[in-house]
Amino acid sequence: MEEKTKQLIDTLTKLKISKDILEVILLVKLKIKRNASIEYFEEKNLKTIEPILKILNLQYKLTTITGIPKLIVGTNNEVEEIFNLEEEVFLKKNKKAHIRYGILMGYPKCCCEKSYNNDKKNSVGYHYVTKNPWPWQLNNYKTMIWHIPCSPECKESIEFGNKHIIIREKIRNKKDPDSLISSYKNFCLHFSQNLYSNFQGNKNNNSITITKILNKTQNSHAEHTDENINLSKQEKIQYFIEEGDVLTITDKKIEINKKDQKYIYTKIDESDGCLIEFN
Ligand SMILES: [Zn+2]
Repeated sequence: MEEKTKQLIDTLTKLKISKDILEVILLVKLKIKRNASIEYFEEKNLKTIEPILKILNLQYKLTTITGIPKLIVGTNNEVEEIFNLEEEVFLKKNKKAHIRYGILMGYPKCCCEKSYNNDKKNSVGYHYVTKNPWPWQLNNYKTMIWHIPCSPECKESIEFGNKHIIIREKIRNKKDPDSLISSYKNFCLHFSQNLYSNFQGNKNNNSITITKILNKTQNSHAEHTDENINLSKQEKIQYFIEEGDVLTITDKKIEINKKDQKYIYTKIDESDGCLIEFN
């Protein structure tokens, strides 16, 4: 890493802003990412961020078109173009606008084209699970990338993950970078509407023993979800699964074997209860 970059990171990490936001701002400033958006960004936080963006000579814009407040950050007037494309992308689902928007965000063209075609498949989980395993650099569930990769071999996406991890290590000041990377080499059990659990485990054919639960949450970066699905069943099962459980996963159901009880979860569709592997 260049001395100038190191100094910039050291200066910025002293500021009182979240590491997640700092990471995105830095990736744009260092031109590792062309432009970026920070989701769930509240307007009241702009007071803190605005002077930092000004000093870094970054352009920005606030938007709420998807219902999720977002801060768009970039190095030039592309931020304006992104803002103007949002209606075509998110409300009118225009293909050309979708691809242009993705490219402006710094996503590989191959992934932008594929993700539009994936529209009908309804779920990121389903997309990931159609091929397994995926390299850790493409772990969307751990925000190593912010897009849906076109395939486990997508060179541009892997390269982004490799550059991203260097910045993340520096910001999080990890003494052991390998432990950071190993936390992205895990299993992800993905349920409909992008609820998921990340965990470590031992796999043997169709069965997997959970050795460590890493997190249980909703993937805010995932698109193409069916909002009509009642999530209560998936949420329950997401919190029911614990360390030590043995899961047997087939196309139609998940058998959960606990020490003294057995439970069968019936999947609601092909995008539900998918096991995705990252290594
Ligand atoms: Zn790609």
